[in-house]
Amino acid sequence: MDFDLIITNGTVITADSTSHANIGIKNGKIAAIMPPSPSLPSTQNVIDASGCYVMPGGIDAHEHLHMRTGVGRTADSWRSGTIAAALGGTTTIVDFVDMTPGEHLVDALHLRIAEATDAVIDYGLHMTLQPDLYPIDGVPRVISAERIAEIPAARAAGCATFKMYTAYPNMQVQDGDLYRALAGIQAVGGLACIHAEHGDVIESLREQAKRDIAREQARLHQSGDVAAAQRSPYAMSNAHWHNRTRPPWLERESVQRVVSLAEDTGAQVLIFHLGCETAVNVIGEAKARGVGHVFGETCPQYLVFTDEYLKRPDGHLWVCSPPLRPQADQDAMWRMLHAGTLDLVSSDHCPFTVAQKDTGKDDFTKMPGGVPGIEVRMGVVHHFGVRAGKITLQAWVRSCCTRPAELHQLTSKGRLAVGYDADVVVFDPHIRKSLNQSDLHSSMDYSAYENIAVEGWTRDVVARGEVIVRNQQFVGQVGRGKFIKR
Ligand SMILES: [Zn+2]
Repeated sequence: MDFDLIITNGTVITADSTSHANIGIKNGKIAAIMPPSPSLPSTQNVIDASGCYVMPGGIDAHEHLHMRTGVGRTADSWRSGTIAAALGGTTTIVDFVDMTPGEHLVDALHLRIAEATDAVIDYGLHMTLQPDLYPIDGVPRVISAERIAEIPAARAAGCATFKMYTAYPNMQVQDGDLYRALAGIQAVGGLACIHAEHGDVIESLREQAKRDIAREQARLHQSGDVAAAQRSPYAMSNAHWHNRTRPPWLERESVQRVVSLAEDTGAQVLIFHLGCETAVNVIGEAKARGVGHVFGETCPQYLVFTDEYLKRPDGHLWVCSPPLRPQADQDAMWRMLHAGTLDLVSSDHCPFTVAQKDTGKDDFTKMPGGVPGIEVRMGVVHHFGVRAGKITLQAWVRSCCTRPAELHQLTSKGRLAVGYDADVVVFDPHIRKSLNQSDLHSSMDYSAYENIAVEGWTRDVVARGEVIVRNQQFVGQVGRGKFIKR
């Protein structure tokens, strides 16, 4: 058989096995997986993967490229963000459609696809379901019945996954709406992705914290001790208040409620960005009861950083929601990832520049939330997980490539198997890679991973049969990425 490309001499890593094999690629698909052979036709286009892992292309099913926010668009364009993703070993992303009230979901989807013409890798889009009415002057947050009736059309147009929030005043979905939306998503065979924190109580805690901070500052100023007032942890600029007003039990409570609604409706539900042991335990308990349609995601930031970062003078750069947790929670995330209680790792890449982050640095209630990480995800999970002996090579591939494809219904991706898209990463476990901003490729102006280096990095990337990264250099065509209907 003739191939367009053969990847040879590598150690093939899948979610189930490690083996030695050659991969034959034809017409953008994996055409054969062959036992190692000393004689390859000399005319073949060959990638020699000696000393490297050969694995499915990474699937990053959660990031925010060029997203509208209260402080402007996020810094990465579809071009810069997807090039960074590719250089980090990711061959498919799933980003978001954010509709505006009154706009049909399908119209919002098409507008978002029109923004993504520069994508260099394939992409899907989650549909965000947010209230059509905000809580202004007593008007409740509502997802209208008309909106829920649009779900089948959105599904038919290629959105199999729908995001909802149980926190943030302008995004938070009421329980009754959540219940009806889950039923609507279940009816079309979709997946609901939930940001789960108990928004109402968080808002109460934030108001209380503001009063406490103001009272303590007034007391210190009255006593005349200006230096103590400046040193006091009771300061609106102290990012740690972000954590103190989002305690673990509010994350657990929300996850518990979402899981209950999922169980009753039968809807498939993925809880996004878990970093908190007590919350993940809810997923573990459901799985242990035999509930097969409740899943969990974690992100590199929860696997590398702890809440200690929030105590730094520039702690607002590590503000994300749900917040970073103590070391014991981080340790638990690795255990849960190894055990499969957590299904997948996504970057939740939310690229706010320092200037955008700084708009909130004097007020913890206004700090833009999000940490960049689209390029580092595969390398970070390999270095801090596989290399550190916390997870296996199989758990790495499972959580970064195969499970994300399965859960997000990317049916031609995530596996090295005949007939699947030829999305293949050649990962050299010996490359030493700095994660400083100057060594990364997104449009960001800081790296959350500054002064961190990893051992093991993506060397070459093949996407639908095309070599798009060669020796750590992007060599693909801008705009080659396709929207994947799911
Ligand atoms: Zn996110």
